[in-house]
Amino acid sequence: MAKVLCVLYDDPVDGYPPQYARDDIPTLEKYPDGQSMPSPSTVDFTPGELLGCVSGELGLRKFLEDAGHELVVTSDKDGEGSAFERELVDSDVVISQPFWPAYLTAERIASAPNLKLAITAGIGSDHVDLQAAMDAGITVAEVTYCNSISVAEHVAMSILVLVRNFVPSHQIVLDGGWNIADAVSRSYDLEGMQVGTVAAGRIGLGVLRRLAPFDVGLHYMDRYRLPAEVEAELNLTHHETVESLVEVCDVVTINCPLHPETEHLFDAEMIGKMKRGAYLINTARGKICDRDAVASALESGHLAGYAGDVWFPQPAPADHPWRAMPHNGMTPHISGSSLSAQARYAAGTREILECWMGERPIRDEYLIVEGGNLAGTGAHSYSAGNATSGSEEAARFSG
Ligand code: NDP
Repeated sequence: MAKVLCVLYDDPVDGYPPQYARDDIPTLEKYPDGQSMPSPSTVDFTPGELLGCVSGELGLRKFLEDAGHELVVTSDKDGEGSAFERELVDSDVVISQPFWPAYLTAERIASAPNLKLAITAGIGSDHVDLQAAMDAGITVAEVTYCNSISVAEHVAMSILVLVRNFVPSHQIVLDGGWNIADAVSRSYDLEGMQVGTVAAGRIGLGVLRRLAPFDVGLHYMDRYRLPAEVEAELNLTHHETVESLVEVCDVVTINCPLHPETEHLFDAEMIGKMKRGAYLINTARGKICDRDAVASALESGHLAGYAGDVWFPQPAPADHPWRAMPHNGMTPHISGSSLSAQARYAAGTREILECWMGERPIRDEYLIVEGGNLAGTGAHSYSAGNATSGSEEAARFSG
């Protein structure tokens, strides 16, 4: 029997929804690159239900308890004495979502001698100290591709929201006003602008494909070139360095994982190399940008806007400067947790558990760490090390 500790975000303030805005969600046959959808033996939920909160339990309780395992679900994840720290000490498996990350630091890993598997119900396992996981022989897996297109849609939306000055214009309506000049004095067309992505993986390429019909110039920087036919189809300009990309782009979107190589990649120096009036969109991870450098670039007018849904730590403290800085299009970390995405990552989490409990291999594309080394997708996209430092600050949030 295994003890599975699952950390999920809180239920809605008004309680678990009795009904939803829509009756169904589309059924997708496969991901854009042909990768197959999550394939557990079955699922015990209806796609479109809220699964990522405590009462949703990722739809796992019946499956785990029928098989004789114990499932503990909590949202209390930060600080000494949190339910997560108390329950972790004898847990075999930890499941966490990047939206509400249970930071698995080296100290926490050391407190959990039984821990064998850490599953990210989503994409991005930077909340786990990967070096400590490697040293402790813990397998780390995530549900690759489950919400990449969800995020690409959010990026496309955020670019338009910033460039068209949507948020302040909408606020005018809410306030009962009609101040057209106020709204349009920061509003532009995206058409003709130069748009670049840092990383052209599943999300980055999804963003490029979604923006191509807007008649923009498309740029990307990645360590590996995309196939020549994709470059030709989308008329892409490849950059060898991030610096060369940011110097020519009006809009920059960040779509690489957070790992020691990318932590604080967008510091004051890099932001200083961006065009005056550029827009920066970061749905990758908060720590890829320097918090104060972003806020001061907006205040000085060097950046015209910043949008995204990722912060560090999460939840962000009430006084986090990104909540109040000018010209921001920030949301809480939601882009990868649409109801559509939840159905995929809940099913993918169950697939990983079924493999692990049945002693069958976990798909290579889901693996980040295995057998003491980066593995699968992790070996391709991450670098060894730790990006969790400072996560204890999440305990300062009071919602
Ligand atoms: P992929 O693995 O498909 O793509 C990541 C890409 O980043 C790869 O192409 C990789 O390149 C590239 N990369 C890695 N390091 C660097 C670097 N130093 N410089 C440039 N490129 C680099 O992942 P996804 O596109 O699906 O997701 C990307 C990230 O987005 C996740 O790791 C996560 O942090 C974030 N995310 C956010 C979500 C949200 O809700 N906001 C949801 C899902 C993901 P290479 O070819 O060299 O490996």
